[in-house]
Amino acid sequence: DLAALAQNYRDLQSRLAGARLGAVVKANAYGLGAARVAQTLRQQGCRDFFVAHLEEALSLKQELQKDSNLFVLNGLHPGSEERCAAAGVIPILNSLAQIRNWSAFARRQDVELPAVLQFDTGMSRLGLSADEANELIGNRALLDGIRILFVMSHLACADDPDSAQNEAQRSLFEKYAASFSGVPR
Ligand SMILES: *Cc1c(COP(=O)(O)O)cnc(C)c1O
Repeated sequence: DLAALAQNYRDLQSRLAGARLGAVVKANAYGLGAARVAQTLRQQGCRDFFVAHLEEALSLKQELQKDSNLFVLNGLHPGSEERCAAAGVIPILNSLAQIRNWSAFARRQDVELPAVLQFDTGMSRLGLSADEANELIGNRALLDGIRILFVMSHLACADDPDSAQNEAQRSLFEKYAASFSGVPR
């Protein structure tokens, strides 16, 4: 029901007090059809779309207008940096290895490349571990050649507002994000 989808988008956006609302459309938009779901949300003003893998981003890219941003939640497999950059797809960097590869590729091309940083604050699926986050914060040169568009994390219990884990994740995220002043969260 694309009309319901559009209504849900408007409803969420109206509660967000100016924050930017993106859409996760991985796994073919959870089986609903990534292209038509993304097009519907784009008509409502959505410009940020998230998929799991580069292949998904490359095929969705062909369906979307140039004003939309495509983000790869799982980051980049070693060796796929060139295809990602050529398509203008934005990786979400989840490990120091991914950061090193993206930075090395950018420096070889002598360009600055966009990326998002994800911190694992308790989901235990994707994102920099505490050790990796602290290493990165202590050695910002690891990000040479990378322009950080925003920092993010993934709530493990977002569907349970009363879960104590929400506040634990929020405060840990706050701690990491404080080292990236001026960068959207
Ligand atoms: C898949 C994913 C989402 C969306 O999560 P669902 O549990 O599928 O709603 C959000 N953030 C990240 C980092 C993801 O990988």
